[in-house]
Amino acid sequence: MPKTNFSQAELEKIKKRLLEEEKRVSEDIKDLEKADPFADPNRLLENEADEDAREELEHENIEAQIKQLKSLQRDIKSALELIEKGEYGICQMCGKPIGKQRLELIPYAKLCVDCMNKLED
Ligand SMILES: [Zn+2]
Repeated sequence: MPKTNFSQAELEKIKKRLLEEEKRVSEDIKDLEKADPFADPNRLLENEADEDAREELEHENIEAQIKQLKSLQRDIKSALELIEKGEYGICQMCGKPIGKQRLELIPYAKLCVDCMNKLED
């Protein structure tokens, strides 16, 4: 595996950013879980059918958002692991550097732009 082309100081900064991001994401997940109508144990007692349908939809919406955030959480975690291994910023598919500009925008990016585009085709 090629080594990272980031300096120690840069990596420290990125690590801090990733840890902040991770904290924000896990708080968002908690908030969503609280907002989920299905999380209320009294929910089914007095619900009208149309209210039920609305809550069902809201529940599905929240679940989808949580799923997305959890995959983001995994990406952040693996970026942190790559920093520890000294392999941060290397594309996980082709092994080339991802590019600092891209990582500036998405510090947990796993793929370079080329591989990303290939995946989307
Ligand atoms: Zn690549």
